[in-house]
Amino acid sequence: MADRLTPEQRSAHMARIRRANTKPELVVRRLLHSLGYRFRVQFGEVPGRPDIAFPARRRCVQIHGCFWHAHGCSLSRTPSTRTEFWKAKFARNRERDDRLERDASALGWETLTIWECETRDIADLTRRLTDFLGSPRLS
Ligand SMILES: [Zn+2]
Repeated sequence: MADRLTPEQRSAHMARIRRANTKPELVVRRLLHSLGYRFRVQFGEVPGRPDIAFPARRRCVQIHGCFWHAHGCSLSRTPSTRTEFWKAKFARNRERDDRLERDASALGWETLTIWECETRDIADLTRRLTDFLGSPRLS
């Protein structure tokens, strides 16, 4: 179906996908909250305003939509029209992700990247977050 869209329709379609991709962020935030972690959202003191930041731990969590960040999983198929345009866009997004993580690291911040497709297994997600963050209570 998507192949018959005009570029304008495709833009609107993709904008809806982008907004829909905030759902994985909500899944992670709800989980962190339920585990007792306190965090900041879109924390401006770290390059790239990470989705979720833990200032006292100098750790942050980025949640990447599989489509926009070209994860390579089943959620991240490249559109079959304007393929070169999308490939270039995905490459820019990936470069930006890498650069921001390096910039954050240079300032002493560690980043955990969670992919959209990884927010479906809550037990696994819980283990990864607690491994990365340590106890919800700061000693
Ligand atoms: Zn994925």
